[in-house]
Amino acid sequence: MQELFSTLVEEDRPMTLAELAGSDRLADVCDQATVFRLLRRLADHGIVRRLGLHERAAYFTLVVPGKHSDYLICTKCGSIAAVDAPCPVHKLEEEIREKTGFRGLYHELEFFGVCPDCG
Ligand SMILES: [Zn+2]
Ligand SMILES: [Zn+2]
Repeated sequence: MQELFSTLVEEDRPMTLAELAGSDRLADVCDQATVFRLLRRLADHGIVRRLGLHERAAYFTLVVPGKHSDYLICTKCGSIAAVDAPCPVHKLEEEIREKTGFRGLYHELEFFGVCPDCG
């Protein structure tokens, strides 16, 4: 569990199950099924979030309050990339915070489309 967590922190990007299972820290200590079970447990605790379309093209990313990315996901090949533009939602987030008194607000957006490679 600790190794899995460390890998996600160090890589600092969404990763697939295959990438995680094949990473330096994890390849020797657990198989893909074990990594998947651990990811599910982390997701149940709100530590990890699943991104993407379906099981085969799923990516896993750490949930870090106060730090977020918005993502661009290709519906054909399942590729995923962080959106390289100022986030349009932060002002709205401030407004919601003021109106509702919620603390620790965060969001992550997923934009779906067809990437240039699949285009
Ligand atoms: Zn694509
Ligand atoms: Zn955002």
